This record gives sequence, structure tokens and C-alpha cells, in this order.
Amino acid sequence: MANKKVVIIGGVAGGATAAARLRRLDESMEIVVFERGEHISFANCGLPYHVGGSIKERRKLLLSSPAMMKARFNIDVRVQSEVLRIDRTAKAVEVKGPNGEVYRESYDHLIVSTGASPLRPPIPGIESDAILSLRNIPDMDRIIAKADQTPNGRAVVVGGGFIGVEMAENLIERGFDVTLVEAADQVMTPVDREMAAIVHNHMREHGLKLRLGETVAAFSQDGTETLVQLKSGDVIRTDLVILAIGVRPESKLAKEAGLELGARGGVKVSAQLLSSDPDISVIGDVAEVPGFGSESLTWIPLAGPANRQGRLVADRIAGLEITYTGVQGSSIAKVFDLTVAATGKNEAALKREGIPYLSVVTTGNSNATYYPGAQQLTLKLLFTPAGKLLGAQGVGGKGIDKRIDVLATALRFGATVDQLAELELAYAPPFSSAKDPVNILGYVAGNKLRGESRFADWRAVFDRDLASTVLLDVREIAEWEADHMEGATHIPLGELRERAAELPKEREILVYCAVGQRAHTAVRMLKQMGYNVANIKGGFRILKAMRDDLAARKGASIDGGAGGGMTGRNQDDRPTATRNPGGKSGEDLPEVPARTVTVDACGLQCPGPIMEVYNAIKPMQEGEVLEVTATDAGFWGDVAAWCDRTGHQLLSRERKDGQILVKIRKGQKAAPTAADKAEQGKTMVVFSGDLDKAIATFIIANGAAAMGRPVTLFFTFWGLNILRKPTGPVPVKDLMGKLFGWMMPRGSTALGLSRMNMGGMGAKLIRHLMQSKNVASLEELIEQAKRNGVRLVACQMTLDLMGIKPAELIDGVEVGGVASMLASAESSDMAMFI
Ligand code: FAD
Repeated sequence: MANKKVVIIGGVAGGATAAARLRRLDESMEIVVFERGEHISFANCGLPYHVGGSIKERRKLLLSSPAMMKARFNIDVRVQSEVLRIDRTAKAVEVKGPNGEVYRESYDHLIVSTGASPLRPPIPGIESDAILSLRNIPDMDRIIAKADQTPNGRAVVVGGGFIGVEMAENLIERGFDVTLVEAADQVMTPVDREMAAIVHNHMREHGLKLRLGETVAAFSQDGTETLVQLKSGDVIRTDLVILAIGVRPESKLAKEAGLELGARGGVKVSAQLLSSDPDISVIGDVAEVPGFGSESLTWIPLAGPANRQGRLVADRIAGLEITYTGVQGSSIAKVFDLTVAATGKNEAALKREGIPYLSVVTTGNSNATYYPGAQQLTLKLLFTPAGKLLGAQGVGGKGIDKRIDVLATALRFGATVDQLAELELAYAPPFSSAKDPVNILGYVAGNKLRGESRFADWRAVFDRDLASTVLLDVREIAEWEADHMEGATHIPLGELRERAAELPKEREILVYCAVGQRAHTAVRMLKQMGYNVANIKGGFRILKAMRDDLAARKGASIDGGAGGGMTGRNQDDRPTATRNPGGKSGEDLPEVPARTVTVDACGLQCPGPIMEVYNAIKPMQEGEVLEVTATDAGFWGDVAAWCDRTGHQLLSRERKDGQILVKIRKGQKAAPTAADKAEQGKTMVVFSGDLDKAIATFIIANGAAAMGRPVTLFFTFWGLNILRKPTGPVPVKDLMGKLFGWMMPRGSTALGLSRMNMGGMGAKLIRHLMQSKNVASLEELIEQAKRNGVRLVACQMTLDLMGIKPAELIDGVEVGGVASMLASAESSDMAMFI
């Protein structure tokens, strides 16, 4: 009996893999591969990086050759051979060879792996040679040749999918001024809108001009320039156009042969990768294959699935049982210093398919923050109301790849959010944290599932009804100073317990911190106090990303001035920009080199870097320069805003090797920040329990609080009596406690004067005088102080000594030790002993 003959159409990812695997399984088979192009098995995923210069040698993209396939696998590879027709009845294909000759080749089994071709919709002018796409090596060569004609010229990339984004980045690497036009309101649609916002801002920071929600109406030529006319009416003049608006299955052959096609135009295949013809297998980008965890077929053109299907189809042809368990859509891309990755379904897909889901967003670090080089990672998890994973997305620095791969694996094996929390992942400081970001994602999702924390997403903030909600920022003062959401109320987490009464119970409280962790504590606290409260998913990192993205998009426009290229108003934020936010002109600056102080804030997460800047710049002299290195992505915007607000001068800001390098010149009259005001705090040790001294204390305290100064009153010894409740049950005490309790005045109303008390007559006289002169009573002053945010701290040691229990004290009093007093005294410019 003659050996089985397998013919394969397409010799790159799926086709070449299938051919090599077949040979390894069966030496006797006759294997013929037809490839239309001149190269087989080339690295199409590497093409953009040769354009940009990261892959220096072109030959490295060529992974194999017909000669090598012959020598190593005894496979007959025929390049520049296009299959024109499939004759299913005769089980043969019609081929046009390199010299134009047409011949037939029979098969016992046919594998179709013809891939997907770039979309070229009928836009006027699209047929011009100047409108280039990228699919294979000749396409890449054409782009490089065209780019060489206008080094450092202008380029327009149409389409914000993976190929478009990679090309935009690589053209910038090549020195081009690049505009990316995308019809949707975001690039990289595998990730959700708020994750894409981080990417958009990062792209703009690298000088890429984004035109989102824009479509091309026409292309035209003006000499060597191409005019890209947008539907909005704007026209972009450019030297180079890359069209990357997507691909479509190259299924013409299959369609003409009568194979059944799916909704996206791909060939429908079974879990055995068979088409509607049992003698024809279809794999890779041309196939609509089973979706992972789904009943229906799906079409996700990616190299991993194409290779997997190539291997599986060979197994089946060689007689093995196979089941393709479905494509899950794990993808990843580098976008300048960011990594963007996704697996499984995103929100759009879940909504489209009517699948109920929950989601959480967390931000952590690639590795322990005390080890150099930690970078921020933002992860999003989508899961069923029963906790089973549906999808995950990641945007951030190094380490996104391994987290998305862990999540892709967990998803593939049907994990739940609690199982993510249980994963024991390899840890040492250079690689991760003892609680890996994936574990934390599991914890946060578990909190959400169990209702421990209620979450709201960024839309709840942007669409909020001001009358029925309060947006609460619980970050530290320096973070608030650097930037915050407009209309937010600021109460740092450390003060929230005491100041919660400032928040209205009848309104919903939307809480945010930097990334969600402190907000979670705030939510737990406020919830137990009876507030209707929700944590904003992803915190300020996401809110800021969305706010800046929306603002930048609003500002994007055409500048038709000299040079013609599109320069949106907001686009001039290339990293080398020197800002002069403090209002001092360059001429005012001393010419002699200023003393430079350096700070390494790498690995610190927000608010770490900005706090380091704040502390380092304080003792410096005017004109001295502070050089800061940080890895926290948020520092890029924070430091500029902080300098703006504080009157220091941001000399330069650049990104290098995943780090942010900043130079700040200390300003002359830096505006006092809220953090500075904290340095102007007032601390009073209230030792005396005399009425007159207590009144004086609270008058000073309220005055200082009204000036916006933080005030701490530390009550010790006899001063504690001011804070005792005048009535109410007395807790069980020992004998000494009972004696002290009985001998000492119980509360402010029982205090006597330091002089002329006259058995209590003097105190009554003073109170009467105060009332007649309309001066607030001591009790009113105490209430006022609490409302003004004055901290009332009862000395722990005195409580113990005198046997007074915290329950005997009026509401709103903290209990603290001497360290508490000293801490507040250190950040005060006035400390008094009364
Ligand atoms: P292909 O690899 O495209 O091979 C199909 C071949 O069939 C082509 O060479 C074509 O010439 C040939 N052919 C078509 N019709 C005929 C015919 N009638 N006769 C003879 N030959 C024919 N995926 C990722 O997962 N990650 C990435 O980073 C990534 N980056 C990419 C970057 C670029 C620039 C491109 C173009 C693609 C990228 N992809 C990436 C997608 C990935 O390359 C594809 O999913 C994968 O190559 C699909 O394999 P395939 O075998 O189905 O098709």
C-alpha cells in the first residue's frame, strides 16, 4: 500500500509545526508544504522589532528554510507556490509554481493553515503603495525602505491592536514622530477601558500622539507626503502610513471549496480540528475553533494556539486521539516600559455573552519593595459570582508576564479566587513578595465574594450624583497635595476614626486611596460605624489614569502649522520636557552648579517616593538640586503636580531602563503645603485640671485649628479629669481606683478655679460671667474642638495609675502614651505645658 500523503497549505506557524511533528511521528508519510511567500517558518511576531532596531539582524527572523526542512525532516517544502484551488472530489490541489506553471498535487489528507491577512477596507486612496501593512518579511522590508527615505520623519499608524501598537512604538524607537489613529475609544481591546487608560497615558508620555475614537475617511498623496483625512475633518500630513486595523481569516480557498465558514469568516472546525470535510483539517488564524470553557466557536488569531493546533492535528493524522480544549486568548505586548497582558474573557466579552461576573483591580509590586528595582503591577480579575476565574488582565512593569501566565494556568485548570489565595508561589526579594500580587488578587476577590468589602468602579466616581455621594480620599497629606480627584473630601486614614462624624451618614461614601489597600481598611471601619461605603477598584491609580486619559483625549487636536504633522494640544509632554512650575524664569537661576542631593526611591510604592522628596528637600537651600530615582509609575505625574503646587522647579523628568529620573531645584518661596502645615502643628500637655486653665487650653486649641493647624492636646494627671464623663455607670475598679474616682472632679462641669475658687463659688462666677459676655462654655469649647479635628489624647499611664477606665471618658478621646505626645510635638512648632 502506498504511503499516506499529507499536503499542507501555509508554511509558517501552524503549517510548519504540523509538518515537523508529523515527520517525528511517522517516517513513512509523504509530506508536501506549499508556501506562497519566499520564506517559511519566519518569526512574524518579531517583525516590528527589526523595524525598530531591537532585533538587529534580519536573518535572525528566518527560523528555517526548505533545504533545512528537507535535510532534517525529509519534508518537501515548495516556496513561492500558491495553492489556487482545492478539488475536494479529486482530493487534489491546484498550484501555481515559482515560474507561473500551474499543476495539481493529490493528497490523502489536507491541512489548511493559510493564516489571516491584513484588513484593507475600501477607503478612498487605500490602494496607494504608500499605505503599508505588516504581515511578512517583504512587508517589513518595504516599511524599512520607506522609513529610510525620511529618517526621523512623521508616521501615522492606523489601528491600535497589538501590531499597530508595536509598530507605533518601534517607529518612535526609529526616531519617527508618530500618531496612532484608533476607531475605538481605547487601544489593546483585550484589556478593559480603565486598564487601557494606563497604557494611553504611558504612550503619550513617550511622545506618541493618540487619536482615539477617530476613523480614516480617505488617503491622498501630495508629492512624497501622504494626507490622512479623518472622519472628524482633521487632516494629518505624514511620510509613512502603516495600516494595522486588524486581520481577517484567509479563507477564500476554503470557501470556494465549499467548506463551512463561521460568523467571523473563518473555517469552522471541530475539537478534532476537522473542517466539514473529514479529509481536510484547518488550523491557526484561518480557523474558528472551540473557545475555552465555551459552547461556541471563537476566532482569536495568535501564535500559541496556531502552534498547539499544528502539533495536535499531526497527532490525529498519525492516529492518536485528540481533543482541542479551546483557545483562551492569552496575549501579551510590550508598550515602551509597560507590559500589557490578558487571558480569558474581558468585560466586553462577558457582557456580550451574558455571563454574570464580578471583578476586582489591585496594584502591587513585581518584587519586595525594599529590594532595588521593584515596579508597579496593576492586575484585574474577572470571576463568576461563585468565584471561578473567567479572565485576567495586567498592566505594569516587569513581572506582569509571569503573573498573567500563573493566572492563565489557574484559569485553564478551573481555579477559584480562593485557590489563587492558596497558591504557593516562589518567593525571594528580587523576584516577588511573600504575598505575591496573584495571592493578593485572590484575597481581594475573596473579600468581595464574602461581602467584606463593597467595591465600585471608576464609573461610579465619574458619573456620581454629588448630592447623594461623598468621594473620600484617605491618603496622606503629601499624596493629596501632589494630586487628588476634584471634589473629594480628604481625611487621612490615620484620622478617620476620630473624624468619621464629619461624613454624612445619609450619603454613600466612595473611598479611594492610592491602590485600594488603605481604602479597604477605611471601608471596614466606616461600614462598622453604619456608613454606606464602597472601595473604588484600583484606587487613585485607576481614577487618575482615567481622568488624565479623558482630559488628554478631549485636548487632542490637529495643529496644521509648520511641518504639517498632527500635534494635539495635549501631546507636547515628551519626557525630556523641562517645566518651570514655580513661576521662576530660567534667568533667575544661579549659574554656578548647585549642590546636588540624591535620593534613591526605587522600589518604594506610592506615597513612598513623594514622601522621600518631601523630606529630602526640606533641609536643602534654595537653588540646590535634588535628584531622585524612582520606579513607582505614579511618581511620574505626582512629582510634576507636587512641584507645581509647592513652588519647586522640576528641571527634568525622564524614563530610563524602567526607572524615573527626576531633577528638582528647590524653590525660594515654596508655597506652604498641607504637609508643611502639619509641621506648624500645636501640641499642649494638659497637666492641670483647673477650670480656668482648661478654658484657656481649649480657646488656644480652637484658634489654632481654625487657622488650619493640626492640634493635639495630651491630657495627663489632673488634666484627665476634664475628659471624664460627668454621669453614667462607673466600671468595676480596685480600691485605689475607687478612691481616686471619688476624690477627683468628675468631668469639666466639676472643675474648680486655680485661684479664688472659694469652695466652688469662684468657678460658678466665672461660668456666669462667660455666659453673660457670650463666651462659649468649656463644654461647648470641647465640642467645638472635636468638630475642628483637635486630637484629644488621654495619657495611658495616668489612666492606669488612677484606675480610670477609657469607658469613663467622653466620646472622641484617643488613648496614647508619651510617644504619641512626642510624635505630635516633633511635627509642631509650638508645644505648651499647661
Ligand atoms: P501564518 O503564520 O500567517 O502562516 C500562513 C501562511 O500561509 C502565510 O505565510 C501565507 O503566505 C501562506 N498562505 C496563505 N494562503 C496560501 C496559499 N493559497 N497558498 C500557499 N500559501 C498560502 N501572535 C502572538 O501570539 N504574539 C505576537 O507577539 C504576535 N505578533 C505578531 C506580529 C505580527 C507583525 C504579525 C503579522 C502577527 C503576529 N502574531 C502574534 C500573530 C501570529 O503570527 C499568528 O497568529 C500566527 O502566525 C498564525 O499562524 P498560521 O499558521 O495560522 O498563519
